[in-house]
Amino acid sequence: MAEAAIIDGKAIAADLRQRVANAALLLRETQGLTPGLATILLGDDPASHSYVRAKGTACTAAGLAAFERRLPSATSEAALIAEIARLNQDERVDAILVQLPLPSQIDGHRVISEIDPAKDVDGFHPINVGRLWTGLPGLVPCTPQGCLILLRSVRPDLTGAEAVVLGRSNIVGKPMTALLIAADCTVTAVHSKTRDVATIARRADILVTAMGRAQLVGADWIKPGAIVIDAGINPLPGPDGRNRLIGDVDFAAVRPIAGAITPVPGGVGPMTIACLLRNTLIAACRRRGLPVPLGF
Ligand code: NAP
Repeated sequence: MAEAAIIDGKAIAADLRQRVANAALLLRETQGLTPGLATILLGDDPASHSYVRAKGTACTAAGLAAFERRLPSATSEAALIAEIARLNQDERVDAILVQLPLPSQIDGHRVISEIDPAKDVDGFHPINVGRLWTGLPGLVPCTPQGCLILLRSVRPDLTGAEAVVLGRSNIVGKPMTALLIAADCTVTAVHSKTRDVATIARRADILVTAMGRAQLVGADWIKPGAIVIDAGINPLPGPDGRNRLIGDVDFAAVRPIAGAITPVPGGVGPMTIACLLRNTLIAACRRRGLPVPLGF
């Protein structure tokens, strides 16, 4: 059997960003509207700062407005909720993102549930979670949405496929499971208490992994011809002492067996920001009763 095709997340994300930019231009010209994303960042964590910066830059490049709120790490939950309330009321803001993780004095669930669900660009609000599981339109978490777009790039019709999702977090695993059920797959959700994971994974026509376990998924986890989507991002110190990023999948071992596979980096990662822009645009349209552009 031939080696797996590489699913080029960088190229697919660039295409999606361009389509968002085209739609944003159209909205500006026809409606005088510039969709806006507000990010709230607490504290000085360098990784969080770089994520937020990347999101702002991507927004501006796509012709969306970016608003950044930086608050001290000692900010109280009440002050953060007050900031969210201001952004909920701000007509220039269509989408609100609270960068995770949050400092320990803050209850993340409480804070997320204060975001107007129509502006909940991460799709973490319980209303959007419920909408996803009930098949109603809502805002869908960006990483699993990106995984679905990558899957459909190689297999547009997923009907009847056996899918296995490795990981059950609220951010990736659970919404991925919901999206695959909605796409008419038969889905198994695997977690750290699951027995005989490799045998279950080997049943999968579609294997999505989001465990945060470097290279755990080996050749014996893969059904020949399976589509493998690797959302894992694991830092691994290189010989020069600098971290490089690797996935949950042992890429070199799995590629000869799988039918298609995402690399790390350059697979799921670039899709997350592209889907954030997509969600911002969708939120801006839905909030005003405008049609969401075709193909979104
Ligand atoms: P998480 O909250 O730590 O969840 C990990 C999940 O994997 C949990 O459900 C855990 O099971 C399960 N798990 C861990 N070890 C396992 C094992 N040996 N066998 C089976 N299941 C196992 O992580 P997350 O936030 O979902 O992130 C997962 C990975 O995706 C990380 O590498 C993260 O960096 C990456 N990620 C990437 C993006 C992106 O933009 N590409 C975005 C978000 C996350 P339990 O529930 O039983 O603990």
